[in-house]
Amino acid sequence: MGVEEKLPTGVLLTTLEGLFGYMRSASFWPATFGLACCAIEMMTYGAPRYDSGRWGQEVFRASPRQADLMIVAGRVSQKMAPVLRQIYDQMPNPKFVLAMGVCASTGGMFNNYAIVQGVDHVVPVDMYLPGCPPRPDMLIDAMFKLREKVAHLPVGLNAVAADEAAEARQLEA
Ligand code: SF4
Repeated sequence: MGVEEKLPTGVLLTTLEGLFGYMRSASFWPATFGLACCAIEMMTYGAPRYDSGRWGQEVFRASPRQADLMIVAGRVSQKMAPVLRQIYDQMPNPKFVLAMGVCASTGGMFNNYAIVQGVDHVVPVDMYLPGCPPRPDMLIDAMFKLREKVAHLPVGLNAVAADEAAEARQLEA
């Protein structure tokens, strides 16, 4: 009997998924997308004092086509929303979104007609980070939580799509 016949079904796929998950989670390339005051903290996160490069998270890309993570750092105006969506659409799959700060997460204190009341109205959000502004070490913590989530995702799905697929399976059962 060959080795393949002795292995339970799906072992190879599971192992590959684990490997992909590990590699994806350990090498985020964020798109450069600072919108307001939170972006200053995001820049500090990449600078020597906090040095996010220690974990392979500092390679900010000016082109969305080279990025797999969008950190929405700051409030999103109604005018900026279509631009943000276009940049998101230009990022290759699998891609992830982190809403940084209370403004990006919910609109925050800007409860008015000019500001989108949460960037999840425009793009699917995988991780919310509260605070005004969140400190760079809070961003590091959020990135680690996102890494944990990404490391266990099926190949080709982002966290939101994986949650939706799991929900659909539960409804079917
Ligand atoms: Fe500025 Fe605070 Fe809003 Fe961040 S959460 S964009 S620091 S007002």
